[in-house]
Amino acid sequence: MVEAVQQAHAAAARAAEGGADLVEYRIDTFTGPDCDLAGLVDGSPLPCILTCRPVWEGGLCELDETARLKVFERAMTAGRPPAYIDIELAAYQKSPDLRRAVARWVDHPGQVGRADAGLILSSHDFEQRPVDLYQRIEAMVAAAACRVIKLAWRARSLRDNIEAFELLRHGYKPTIALCMGEAGLPSRVLARKFNGLLTFAALEADQATAPGQPTLEQLKTLYRWDATGPLTRVYGVIGHPVGHSMSPAIHNAGFDHTGFDGVYLPMPIPPDYTHFKATVGAWLDMADLHFRGASVTIPHKENLLRFVAERGGQIEPLAARIGAANTLTVGDDGTLHASNSDYAAALDAVCNGLGIGRAELAGRRVAVIGAGGAARAIVAGFAAAGATVVVYNRTLERARQLAEAFSAGGDGVGDGGGPAGGGGDAAGTDVAPGKVVAAPLEKLCDCCCQIYINCTPIGMHPDVDKTPIEASAAPRQWGEGTVVFDTIYNPIETRLLREARAADCITIPGTEMFTRQAAAQFQTWTGREAPLEVFEGVMRKRMGG
Ligand code: NAP
Repeated sequence: MVEAVQQAHAAAARAAEGGADLVEYRIDTFTGPDCDLAGLVDGSPLPCILTCRPVWEGGLCELDETARLKVFERAMTAGRPPAYIDIELAAYQKSPDLRRAVARWVDHPGQVGRADAGLILSSHDFEQRPVDLYQRIEAMVAAAACRVIKLAWRARSLRDNIEAFELLRHGYKPTIALCMGEAGLPSRVLARKFNGLLTFAALEADQATAPGQPTLEQLKTLYRWDATGPLTRVYGVIGHPVGHSMSPAIHNAGFDHTGFDGVYLPMPIPPDYTHFKATVGAWLDMADLHFRGASVTIPHKENLLRFVAERGGQIEPLAARIGAANTLTVGDDGTLHASNSDYAAALDAVCNGLGIGRAELAGRRVAVIGAGGAARAIVAGFAAAGATVVVYNRTLERARQLAEAFSAGGDGVGDGGGPAGGGGDAAGTDVAPGKVVAAPLEKLCDCCCQIYINCTPIGMHPDVDKTPIEASAAPRQWGEGTVVFDTIYNPIETRLLREARAADCITIPGTEMFTRQAAAQFQTWTGREAPLEVFEGVMRKRMGG
């Protein structure tokens, strides 16, 4: 948005430093007789697009069309022409005067004089996909003076991006097809993959000129703009909400580090299986998108299992038993696989803390605090590895149900100390499954387990002064050799971990589980070892640690 020539040129210079090839000057409010439009274009550090967007097309220019034409006349004839001038299709169709003027200013097959600027005909819908989208395209294609077609509309769902990709792929003329809003980000990030003429980025987040526009830094660094091409594989995190997920930063850094041709995006899908099915189905059906996998989080972990089952894909047995999967892997032949990397991450984090292999977990006693989704995956994993698990929960009945789900025998209820029940799922290993029992949370102080895992949100930001185990009531054998693992990762060191560390326990933060589950996904998708230290570095940086 141009306020003054100097300010605009300084911003353009920063954009050039940041790797932009072209700058759009929005002169919506820079239209007065004193505004140096010739100087703006002449001194620009980058080739430019000149746009004066009227209010009726989502801009800030309040001039009537005659006055706006005069502004353009001044800009296009006073000095060096811009690389492009952007004119709204609706204005172009309505005004013969504008069409005649534009025909003089821009380069086109019928041009008699000399003109270097290219005409972008644009059309925006800030509400939805326009019903007459293809009529608008036809009109732009038919306009001989039009060099570039620009279409932007608000995406109601991730599926809208597919249509933008189709437009780019068709290539009627050099095309810009972008979806606005959070769901439209893929169209902006993947424009290069589909041979789009350009994508727009803002210098700073608060300077975006359209909803959902990424910053230049995000586009170039986080979303790997320069590394993407027609064969780039696409991954994402599916959930609702996903705006604050750290997974895009982690996986894209991993792709960068290993030189893997992939890009990872946030994929917000509203709750409800029908949304999940329609969206993931549409992304899979577009072969050229090369959608090869996703991390799946709340509320879609159960939906992933159902979807893969319905499509005849494979489901990891323990994921089926847990009833939730967090990883979708799509083969090059379109085969689908659903798995759960949460439990494996928890097992590996504990093994790493103790300096043992997974086989040595057999027979160890594990206290799991909580009986929700995270606890379920962790209980299943440790039981499958042959450990004895005691589930401590505020609501005993819920702990009991969890214990029963992974116990083949016994009543699944214990006193919080000794083993009871038995069963579980060896998940294809030859380890005898461990026993799982339930106990009330108050009994935790009597516990004699060697490994303690917090699967409740107690102590999570902002309630950082809370802990599920008061130091004064800590199990008596807390000390050297005892593992205390908090699945919470914000803050990295919770009060529980701080006090356990002070008592000489081996402590494991939730960040370790998070990076390890991401690493397992990365390895499944890329066939390459995940750069754990890169993942950890990204996570620490994002959390200010
Ligand atoms: P969930 O399904 O809602 O379960 C929460 C559990 O915590 C329930 O058992 C609940 O007990 C218990 N709980 C909640 N507030 C409590 C309180 N004030 N006092 C006592 N018990 C309480 O949640 P979830 O998805 O399992 O997530 C739990 C934690 O795991 C979260 O903090 C999350 O950050 C963490 N997590 C970490 C990772 C990672 O990669 N590091 C992955 C997933 C989850 P009731 O049954 O009595 O309600």
